[in-house]
Amino acid sequence: MQEDKESKAEKVRKIPIWLIVLGGLLLVALACLATGAFMNAISDSPVLPTAAARAVVEALPGLPLGRPTKTPTPLPTHTPMAPQPGGRSAGDPYIPELGNTGYDVQHYSIQLALDPASDHVEGATSIEALSTITGLSEISLDFVGFDVGAVTVNGIAAGFSREGRKLIVALPELQQANAPFTLVITYRGSPVYEPSPYLRFVDHLGLHYPDGESIFTIAEPDGARYWFPANDHPRDKATFRFELLVPAGLEAVANGELVAENQAALPNGDLGSLFIWEHNYPMAPYLALVAVGPYERLEGRSPGGIPLRHYILPEQREEILEATNEIGPALDWMADLFGPYPFETFGYVTAKVPGGSMESQTMVLLSDNMIGRKTAVHELAHMWFGNWVSLDTWAEMWRNEGFATYIQLMWENRQDSEDLELQMIALNSVVEGNNKQYPLDHPPPEYLFELNIYFQGALAAHALRQEIGDEAFFAGLRNYFARYGGGTASDDQFQSIMEQAAGVPLDDFFAAWFPPG
Ligand SMILES: [Zn+2]
Repeated sequence: MQEDKESKAEKVRKIPIWLIVLGGLLLVALACLATGAFMNAISDSPVLPTAAARAVVEALPGLPLGRPTKTPTPLPTHTPMAPQPGGRSAGDPYIPELGNTGYDVQHYSIQLALDPASDHVEGATSIEALSTITGLSEISLDFVGFDVGAVTVNGIAAGFSREGRKLIVALPELQQANAPFTLVITYRGSPVYEPSPYLRFVDHLGLHYPDGESIFTIAEPDGARYWFPANDHPRDKATFRFELLVPAGLEAVANGELVAENQAALPNGDLGSLFIWEHNYPMAPYLALVAVGPYERLEGRSPGGIPLRHYILPEQREEILEATNEIGPALDWMADLFGPYPFETFGYVTAKVPGGSMESQTMVLLSDNMIGRKTAVHELAHMWFGNWVSLDTWAEMWRNEGFATYIQLMWENRQDSEDLELQMIALNSVVEGNNKQYPLDHPPPEYLFELNIYFQGALAAHALRQEIGDEAFFAGLRNYFARYGGGTASDDQFQSIMEQAAGVPLDDFFAAWFPPG
């Protein structure tokens, strides 16, 4: 995330502000969804059970197979499962209302009919999940707004209710631990627009319709729930598929790779375009993105071979080429320092975001008034710091924003370590001149994206590097991505892995930078 802080920067002496899915079963299920299920879902017609659901039904206990024996084999006795509802919090002490327990989402398939001229949405989300407890009887999802038409579980209609910002689904059958099940939720209507207590530069999270001609989503930290039903916490990552139906002449963009583009009927009967995107890497719901507009696609490749694709407006071509002409080398440079680029592809999509850009996974949402090299590199660094290894609690935002800020400065000053040192001295004076003081590892909600999180966080990263030396610092970071990549890590886990690389305890260092609140 990067806020447009240009005005602040002027005041601080021109310091640069920027300065598996379920194996074959799921593949088959995906293939099913790729066909007509989308239009079935959004018209509220019954949705056929997916292959995964059918497999569960077929696996129900029946008569034992094989030749009969003279002495009947006694049937095993089963202890009936006691019903157990899932929990309604992921357990994050910073934003306890987010996330849920009792299940583990493996895959989201999000189907949306969107039109920039109207905020009416026709949607269906299919969620492939595993039960994490025996006797799972009810699950909770984060979901705000829209009229929910129907919910099915393994193809069977399920009861549901809305309780605050949760959608509660009663499972028609109790689930064993590790049992796969598929939920399909159909919904329609207009999004709810309400401010997030955490992100101040947009007036709401979720879907935005800035000009009648384009759409984008922004969701950090608590906004995925405003556009699709989710287990909305980084502790539950999943793979994603998007089927986006938009009026003819527009492009629809999401995370990962564009796998198909077809003509398809819009809900009003007109001919539109259906764009299918897939991202087969674990992703936290807040990093999911959809953007719609009259985009053109630019393609390239990093020198190391990572495919790059950007979605821009034709008039932005020169500006984007200038801002991104070193992004391939920067990507390869980061891969050398931190470990291989974690995903299949990378790029940017521009949008009329009022005051910030967002590191949506593999497809950065670039505010059209922040197109520049600094923002481009900052958001690229988030692919490792925040996206591949995500925060275990939102309280520790400094590790996302501090490292993204520091890496951008490292890249700019990579030829001369003295220049980097001067930059850090300048950052330090900005932090000292900032009259907002608060604990870096548990800021008040309104300061979650405040300047100190970025600058003091960068200073903490730089100080750690000086404390343990380059060799241990970069070895520790590579171990961190190898160990926690695809999931989350806490500050304690980060400290522990850096201590292993350094071979010394770092309690004093962390206590000095992150004094207990
Ligand atoms: Zn950021």
